Amino acid sequence: MSQFWSPLVKTLTPYVPGEQPKLTNLIKLNTNENPYGPSPKVLQAMQGELADTLRLYPDPNGDHLKAAIAAYHGVDKSQVFLGNGSDEVLAHAFAALLKHDAPLLFPDISYSFYPVYCGLYGIDYRLVPLTADFAINIDDYDQPCGAIIFPNPNAPTAKLLSVEVVEALLQRHPQQVVVVDEAYIDFGGVSAISLVNRYPNLLVVQTLSKSRSLAGLRVGFAIGHADLIEALERVKNSFNSYPLDKAALAGAAASFADEAYFQQTCQSIIATRDHLSFAMTQMGFEVLPSAANFIFARHPDYDAAQLAAALRERSIIVRHFKQHRIDQFLRISIGTDKESNSLIEALQALLSS
Ligand SMILES: *Cc1c(COP(=O)(O)O)cnc(C)c1O
Repeated sequence: MSQFWSPLVKTLTPYVPGEQPKLTNLIKLNTNENPYGPSPKVLQAMQGELADTLRLYPDPNGDHLKAAIAAYHGVDKSQVFLGNGSDEVLAHAFAALLKHDAPLLFPDISYSFYPVYCGLYGIDYRLVPLTADFAINIDDYDQPCGAIIFPNPNAPTAKLLSVEVVEALLQRHPQQVVVVDEAYIDFGGVSAISLVNRYPNLLVVQTLSKSRSLAGLRVGFAIGHADLIEALERVKNSFNSYPLDKAALAGAAASFADEAYFQQTCQSIIATRDHLSFAMTQMGFEVLPSAANFIFARHPDYDAAQLAAALRERSIIVRHFKQHRIDQFLRISIGTDKESNSLIEALQALLSS
């Protein structure tokens, strides 16, 4: 701490992302990155854009990318907001839409960035416990609140709510904004984007980091009623006019033009996930049903932190959270079949030693 810090900074507890190790040759299953590269068309589009000129500022509104996302999801361009990763989209949503007198509600076990944004923006929040089997029960949200946010599928549990249940939640809260953070929806869920034209209080946030394999490019977006989008634009344009650079705008738009590649890589990840879940269940793990590109699992006889450390000695890194209720779980990102088989072999060796 320094005397020069503002009072706000002294109160902050920043988010800690999963490790990006400098070592190569690690099997990296700790940050839910996609094991397959992005579509080759993405790289072509980026190279074309950069060959053009970096002398000029990018389009501050990202109109071309907004049009591509709007067409892909069947909404109007005025219903699309872009950000530098969905983390930035979420940050602007917290400032623009989630700060009210009544507390913001989100699950006790959820994306750990949410309380960080509450700290940054001075937002009062209340944690709503997941059920004993780690599910969101929308009845538990029947309480006075200013707004609601949750990931679907939830992170790090990987559990999915059906779009019907999301709609029931929206019907119960017509006066509150409900943000659904769909970072993992493409791995087996049904998006709530189909509901935005009927629910002006719904904002759906998605990212190109996971299912589109562009975590390094930093592109996320939100879809909702044009009034919600305007609130986000007002905050964005009070913060940074150019959050997305030319390469990001071009590459992201190209990703939406290669549906075959997208479907094929998502299906591969789903197949690998289901195989890994089965294999770990056979080993005695309890694996929560996953609709994401990671699984959340615990073993009744082995300590999760010790398992994570032992895997690391075998050059496999997974994520362990030292958090109440989930400190006996491991969160394991889905890699290639080869990586997954290495993990299975390592776990078999550890569990029999
Ligand atoms: C990964 C993730 C994000 C953020 O992704 P970006 O890389 O910032 O687009 C947002 N929400 C959840 C739940 C995530 O897991």
